[in-house]
Amino acid sequence: MKRILALALLFICSAPGRCADGAEENGPRIRVAISLSAPSLNLKTSARIYAQEVKTGQKYLLLENAAYEVRAAGKGIAVAGQELSSPIKLLASDGEERIRLGGNLYKGDILIKATPEGRLDIIEYLSLEDYLYGVLPSEMSSDWPLEALKAQAVASRTYAMKFINPARDYDITNGAEMQVYNGTNKINSRIIEAVNSTRGEVLKYKGKLITAFFHACCGGHTASVKSAWGEDVIKPLYGVPDPFCSASSHYRWEYFLSSVDLLKFIQSQGSTALKIKSMKINQKDRSGRAASFRFTTDAGPKVVQTTDLRKRFGTYEFRSTYITRIASVKGGYELTGRGWGHGVGMCQEGAKYMAQKGKPYKKILRHYYPGAAIIDYE
Ligand SMILES: [Zn+2]
Repeated sequence: MKRILALALLFICSAPGRCADGAEENGPRIRVAISLSAPSLNLKTSARIYAQEVKTGQKYLLLENAAYEVRAAGKGIAVAGQELSSPIKLLASDGEERIRLGGNLYKGDILIKATPEGRLDIIEYLSLEDYLYGVLPSEMSSDWPLEALKAQAVASRTYAMKFINPARDYDITNGAEMQVYNGTNKINSRIIEAVNSTRGEVLKYKGKLITAFFHACCGGHTASVKSAWGEDVIKPLYGVPDPFCSASSHYRWEYFLSSVDLLKFIQSQGSTALKIKSMKINQKDRSGRAASFRFTTDAGPKVVQTTDLRKRFGTYEFRSTYITRIASVKGGYELTGRGWGHGVGMCQEGAKYMAQKGKPYKKILRHYYPGAAIIDYE
């Protein structure tokens, strides 16, 4: 049963800036946006924690095994009906216990900030290594071979570090648009081993961190970062042949596109066509991925970008831009494709296979990020 408890005001320290949060130094720190513009927050405590006003340093005790509702109230933040000045920090009382928000456990300190729109931004502050314990089982199954998990740990560490930017309110978001992080619920001994045994290791090229992209399955050749997003290409993200993922169930896929839906799509892209006569790949990149498609219609030809087509029909169904065949069938077109995801950087299915064949994680990383050095961030 939900219990709302009144806050106990503690005068442990009232001078601003004098309350250290008790976090131990454990390499670089990262700030993860757990939720942006949330209407409210349900907080469950498993131990005593403190809500601290950042401006005044005043701490308020939240009791253990209790539920609290947190919401924006004017310019401040209401916790169990009591208004505190924004922002506030939630601090575990002994630095060990965790905070549970919306069903997920968080190891770090939580900053809650009221937005001008009367909502809440919720940011977790934690060490990069602790963050990786949460990322790893969300991005790769923890029963995969250890060397693949270690390769993923180095890629994810590098990827996250690249986004650390003190000029912003947070460094990274927690969804699939970057890398998935839902707190540290799923931590286990294999995840800990993969993170700890690669502690501090990152991928650099010419002295700079690379954006260590990764994806589910490349389908036989990884994509260049330029063809995926038009970014400047560096050697580690140029795209490589991949003989290691061909046994994956994601290696080959088929998807049916109906003529009716395609017509609606090209009309939304500015075409006045009423009938599609044919669909062909217009341009391929050097990895063989379709950069654009060309439709012949009653109103002339129409070229559309593959990324726009994928966005419209769904990246789950339309798994990649690596199209190998387009067949005209009754009512539409049957596409045959390869791989799953954007195709840039490490192919996770290939990494799994390489690890199963006894390849060490450094060899996996050197295959997918050629020319990158694996070095310590410290
Ligand atoms: Zn692959």
